[in-house]
Amino acid sequence: MKGNKTIGLGALLLIFGYGMLTCSSRQTETDLATKVSTLHDKVLTVDTHADTPSRLLREDWDIGERHESTGRRASKIDLPRMAEGGLDAEFFAVFVGQGARTPEGYAAAKERADRMLDAIHKMCEDYPELVALATTPEDAYRIENEGKRAAFIGMENGYPIGRDLSLIEKYYDRGVRYITLCHSEDNDICDSSTDQGGPEDNGLSEFGKEVVAECNRLGIMVDVSHASEKSFFDIIETTKTPIIASHSSVRALCDHPRNLTDEQLKALAKNGGVTQICFVASFVKEQPPNPERDVALEALREKYGSRRNIQDEAARAKVMEEYQEIYEKYPDERTTLQELVDHIDHVVELIGVDHVGIGTDFDGGGGVEGCNDVSEMPNITEELLKRGYSDEDIRKIWGGNIMRVFSRVIEGSEHT
Ligand SMILES: [Zn+2]
Repeated sequence: MKGNKTIGLGALLLIFGYGMLTCSSRQTETDLATKVSTLHDKVLTVDTHADTPSRLLREDWDIGERHESTGRRASKIDLPRMAEGGLDAEFFAVFVGQGARTPEGYAAAKERADRMLDAIHKMCEDYPELVALATTPEDAYRIENEGKRAAFIGMENGYPIGRDLSLIEKYYDRGVRYITLCHSEDNDICDSSTDQGGPEDNGLSEFGKEVVAECNRLGIMVDVSHASEKSFFDIIETTKTPIIASHSSVRALCDHPRNLTDEQLKALAKNGGVTQICFVASFVKEQPPNPERDVALEALREKYGSRRNIQDEAARAKVMEEYQEIYEKYPDERTTLQELVDHIDHVVELIGVDHVGIGTDFDGGGGVEGCNDVSEMPNITEELLKRGYSDEDIRKIWGGNIMRVFSRVIEGSEHT
């Protein structure tokens, strides 16, 4: 009898204890959720790279409407979901794929860049209650206070400049505040980290040095994402102000040429710059071979040729949808927000918390489980809090660092 009583009492204590535990863990969860939303609202949240402007060119796609992140007419970003996800500022990328380095090629690239610039300006005109163009850090903080989204403009690939340095100021006047010097192939400015054409890495060209100097003069941030290692170090040598990597992750955690080595990260810290961790799964985690996808993509390339040669927007959109279907059918290996935040941890451990931020590459291939579209941005804040980052650290990661670099670039320019 006695024994039974003890068991009974023990069980009771156990149940009571469990009840207390679940009650207190629920309390902790509520506390965390409150802390996440308060902090996420308070800090300026900035994403430095999204390829959404290619969608802005489509007749059948409206950034003022809410979309899903998969399926037809899918996107990772639109104005309603930016508000839901508490993203205050986005650098919309004027992206032009690398084409022929000929007068015709430059003219076509410039024409496309101009159309994307028009589309970003039009977005701000169409939705003045929701979004406003930003060209300085002060603009972003002011627009955030007004309860709107700040739209910055970055240019991905210096190809539309062609060989004409004077165009840089024209792009500056239209709001461009960073230039990613190259894309997936070498260009007149510098060599790319992923060019298939040749093993030679020639780094930054003489013309490229003039481009960097002109960006410094105007107050345009020089973006080294996509650049080869030699280009990266040449740019660091040449620039007078801090640089950015608008969407680049960490080589030590994922061995991809698009990612930055520890040596590059240390040089970036010395330069005072910042790298914005990219959400493309294959840059976050090494992906196993995906032969079925490769075959499907090759078949699509044979069917349509190069996407950049398709001038008609509706036809281009159709091809893009087919690409997307292939990626949905043969997806990357599961890649999580936690694995992404490991990249932030690595940069912080190596060079400190002042040199890292967020550059999603949404609508350009970016998205991980847990943060697969802009509405899920608060999950990043939650993960950082769970890992013990202070409010001040999180403020820096979300926008403080990139805005510090931007301010230094403006201070070093002729516009001050
Ligand atoms: Zn890119």
